[in-house]
Amino acid sequence: MHELSLVMSLLELCEDEASRGGFERIDRIVLEVGALSGVSVPALTFSFESAVLGTVSEFAELEIREIPGTGWCFHCEKTVSLQDPLRSCPGCGGSGVLPTGGMEFRLCELIVRDDRSGKIPEKGGD
Ligand SMILES: [Zn+2]
Repeated sequence: MHELSLVMSLLELCEDEASRGGFERIDRIVLEVGALSGVSVPALTFSFESAVLGTVSEFAELEIREIPGTGWCFHCEKTVSLQDPLRSCPGCGGSGVLPTGGMEFRLCELIVRDDRSGKIPEKGGD
């Protein structure tokens, strides 16, 4: 389960960003996860939900953009789609496919709430 350690470093990064910018909370985290990155999206989501409690990202929405896997087939001499790095070519069934895309795992965007500029009006009470 290396998803949990990925999430831990991600949350650490968010904490750093928040304290550097003076933000109190993070609204949205956008990640790119490639189909060939070896990262399981359900495991990642699950780890995120359990690890996020008590951090600045506690109320953040996690958006995961899944990047399709692609590879170069030496036999077909073209780019083919790959569901996992060990999969053979969907065209010729050959195993000589070099993964070329979908290996990424990266933080794309961090949307923060800046309470200094965007004050939420207090709800009318008494
Ligand atoms: Zn092929």
